[in-house]
Amino acid sequence: MSIQIFGLAVSRGVAIGRAVLVASSRVDVAHYFVMPEEVGAEIERLRAARDEVVAELAALQADLPADAPSELPALLDVHLMLLRDEIFMGATGQWVIERHYNAEWALSAQLEVLARQFDEMDDDYLRERKADIEQVVERMLQSLVRGSGRGRPVRGSQGDATPRDFGGEEPLVLVASDVAPADMLQFKRSVFTGFVTDVGGTHSHTAIVARSMDIPAVVGAREASRLVRQDDWVVIDGDAGVLIVDPPPMVLEEYRFRRRHGELERARLDRLRHTQAVTLDGQAIELLANIEMPADAAAALQAGAVGVGLFRSEFLFMNRGDDLPGEEEQFEAYRDAVLAMKGLPVTIRTVDIGADKPLDRLTAAELRHGQALNPALGLRAIRWSLSAPGMFRQQLRAILRASAFGRLRILIPMIAHMSQVRQTLEALARARKQLDDAGRPFGAVELGAMIEVPAAALQVQSLLRHFDFISIGTNDLVQYLLAIDRADETVAHLYDPWHPAVLQLIAQTIATAGRMGRGVAVCGEMAGDPAFTHLLLAMGLRSFSMHPSRIAVIKQKLLRADTRRLATLLPQVLEAEDCAAACAQWMGNGAPVA
Ligand code: PEP
Ligand code: MG
Repeated sequence: MSIQIFGLAVSRGVAIGRAVLVASSRVDVAHYFVMPEEVGAEIERLRAARDEVVAELAALQADLPADAPSELPALLDVHLMLLRDEIFMGATGQWVIERHYNAEWALSAQLEVLARQFDEMDDDYLRERKADIEQVVERMLQSLVRGSGRGRPVRGSQGDATPRDFGGEEPLVLVASDVAPADMLQFKRSVFTGFVTDVGGTHSHTAIVARSMDIPAVVGAREASRLVRQDDWVVIDGDAGVLIVDPPPMVLEEYRFRRRHGELERARLDRLRHTQAVTLDGQAIELLANIEMPADAAAALQAGAVGVGLFRSEFLFMNRGDDLPGEEEQFEAYRDAVLAMKGLPVTIRTVDIGADKPLDRLTAAELRHGQALNPALGLRAIRWSLSAPGMFRQQLRAILRASAFGRLRILIPMIAHMSQVRQTLEALARARKQLDDAGRPFGAVELGAMIEVPAAALQVQSLLRHFDFISIGTNDLVQYLLAIDRADETVAHLYDPWHPAVLQLIAQTIATAGRMGRGVAVCGEMAGDPAFTHLLLAMGLRSFSMHPSRIAVIKQKLLRADTRRLATLLPQVLEAEDCAAACAQWMGNGAPVA
């Protein structure tokens, strides 16, 4: 029976495919396709993991002390029985043989199928046996991860492998309760043609990474991972924020039509790639790219970006366990980004770890379970960097060294206090001195502050005495100004970039930077949302940084804009109670995008 599940639209377009259900706790196990010739070896990895766990449990059983609780031997018996069950191993192996899933993915897929069967059992005792299966699978996953080394790059998901490379399989969409931003990044250029998660807000980092992948996504779909079954056919309507499970043929046909229409529209916009970004009244507008990895620079160039306005360097630090990137590795990553941009400027933001971007899964779990009471207000971004001064200087040295290879700018996230400004400048001076002492070359870099905390926006004039430029992070500015956790779907309806206070503060910040003759960009999601393009132009913004996939649509919008006329309409929009309606009415901006 077909069902519809409603959530929040975060990345546009239509995806049609088979559901791959992944439990949130297992999302960060490696998910990749193995090559046909690797299937045998992958099954062997499964068997080896099974044998290792069997040996572990058998040894445990043999060494049980005489006074051990009487249930323990029985429990171990059950686990050993499950592990030796050829039906379980055979069904898991089928995911490898038929779908070419890697061993970890096959195990989690099979676990999802079994967990659901157990959930549907009437007998309480049997239903509770689900926990045994979970424990056994968890042990096998640990054994596989031990065998392969945690944190290694995920094959397949980093490459261009698609299901079709392995024999005409169907497109796949990911359905999960939650996906951490770092795990989402692992799926970049991956096999999935769409995403659905139960939790998350439209401006959560998970949603942002989904958008940067330019594939349809819905978050905050509450019950999705419970209602969708492994392998169900689903349609993701990324425009309306709807997931349709088992769609009837007529509906499917309609969505196929819309998907085709979307592809044609994209092809049409692609033709604007080499068009100069100049408004009707001759104002040149800088369209920059937001990237997460050096490899994304290629997409930025391809889209016609004239530089990188935001390199979210924290993604280099995620999914690494304790093995964080050192100076050399960071230097290489920054240098690669600079070289890839072929002389265009690259703005590297120092790590913005914390809030919904924890360093690894363990930290994510800790945060969720309340160790950091309020992570969005806690130790994140520059606060985190200043709490680890050695690591901060290491990153600064790596960036400075990369600046010998091209035009680099440093951007500091979440600045709010003058003490943080002083400490940052001191750290930068020390990093320069250390490089000088070591005889290492580095170039000139400009230093910028992200305006993400209302306090920073209100004292931007003071900040700009110490910084060369600012970049307004509207995602966080909205979050902190309206006191709405951007990752929390229960308050997502209150996350409102159209709020008059938000728009007034942004307008004021842009105007101050303009008066002081300093560069100002917007690098939050508003910059890539065409509903705001005319309004931001009216405020005097001339530099927009966004995912490469948004550049063409924003360019199309500004090519039709007359900034002089827009500037005269600005006061009416800012004074309105309903700014979105006023903007649509006076600036001809069309309906605001959710
Ligand atoms: C922002 O806050 O607008 C921003 C660009 O930073 P991030 O989304 O990475 O927090
Ligand atoms: Mg931010």
